[in-house]
Amino acid sequence: MTPPFPRGPKPPERGLLLSRSVADDPLPAPRDRLMAALSTVGVVFLIPFAVHDFLRGRYPLAAAIAVVVVALAVDAFAIHRKRQPPIPYALLLVPMAAAITISLRTQGVIGAFWCYPVVLFFHFVLSRWMANLCSIALLVDATLMVHRYLGMRITVRFGVSLAMTIVIINIIQSIIRELQGRLLTLAITDPLTGAFNRRHMDGRLAESIQIARRSGRPVSALMIDIDHFKRINDEHGHEAGDGVLQGLVALVNERSRQIDLMFRMGGEEFVLLLPATGEAEAARLAEELRASIAGAPLLGGRPVTVSIGVAELRADDTRESWIKRADEAMYKAKEGGRNRVARSAAAATVPG
Ligand code: GH3
Ligand code: MG
Ligand code: MG
Repeated sequence: MTPPFPRGPKPPERGLLLSRSVADDPLPAPRDRLMAALSTVGVVFLIPFAVHDFLRGRYPLAAAIAVVVVALAVDAFAIHRKRQPPIPYALLLVPMAAAITISLRTQGVIGAFWCYPVVLFFHFVLSRWMANLCSIALLVDATLMVHRYLGMRITVRFGVSLAMTIVIINIIQSIIRELQGRLLTLAITDPLTGAFNRRHMDGRLAESIQIARRSGRPVSALMIDIDHFKRINDEHGHEAGDGVLQGLVALVNERSRQIDLMFRMGGEEFVLLLPATGEAEAARLAEELRASIAGAPLLGGRPVTVSIGVAELRADDTRESWIKRADEAMYKAKEGGRNRVARSAAAATVPG
């Protein structure tokens, strides 16, 4: 059974879908490094307080700070040894909240000061929703303690200022996330056409090979090359040529499926990656694309045509051999007279 090719405009941000997982959580990659740095700072700053409170006979407080120090040190040590931190970062909330609560009870308002760095700490080492959960838990707990031991006047100011800190760190993280999303998009797209660039293509092809091998489902690639593009440039100017490249990508994006990905290999050559698609189906889509392009007004009244090579991934293919077969099929289409589709499998059976 052949899968349908639903038609219709695609959301313009199709290309951004790939970056979304990273943009949702802008700190996953540097998180461990941040944790190691923040833990080291925490250990260095907190040890004197633990010792001081111990010497002053404030044993519960000294013990709570010591637990925080040990937990931070254990995780930091593991990160330095390139191992998974054994104590989940969110669990650090427990000794931290305990130390702050004891400090509030025994030392008054100075205990509340610690809430501010702890909230920042959470937002840099935990995922965003977890950081907000821990921050709000701390806000509620500490505000209740402040109210209990220090009265309403301080409670209102403490609660509002800590809530403001949580809001501000969220705003900062939103800005980081948005900028990171934009940077990522810039890094993977071709600025002229908006197609993905070649660097991104390599990663996506490797990934699609893995998916195909794991799932047993086919995957195909189209090599699309504009016919006599040099002539278009020579006769209509480089800007008109650029317009053709942009129009072509827009047309392919509109006519292909949401899951298909368009890459600019370079110049006037493109690769369309077709996940979960066998070669016969890919050839059918290629033929539809070829006909749409030939009939589209990409260059005023003059038709623009493409030659397309189709290759399904084979069991023994590498990324390079797969794309090479698509490229060879595309050259077959050129040799066959251009404005046509050629299949790698069919090309392979041609004698001689
Ligand atoms: P064929 O049908 O055999 O593919 O011929 P062709 O003229 O399309 O192929 P050729 O490789 O000889 O020419 C490709 C041209 O594409 C040459 C180059 O100037 C032009 N080109 C490459 N990148 C760009 C670009 O970004 N903008 C424009 N306008 N032209 C480009
Ligand atoms: Mg060409
Ligand atoms: Mg070419």
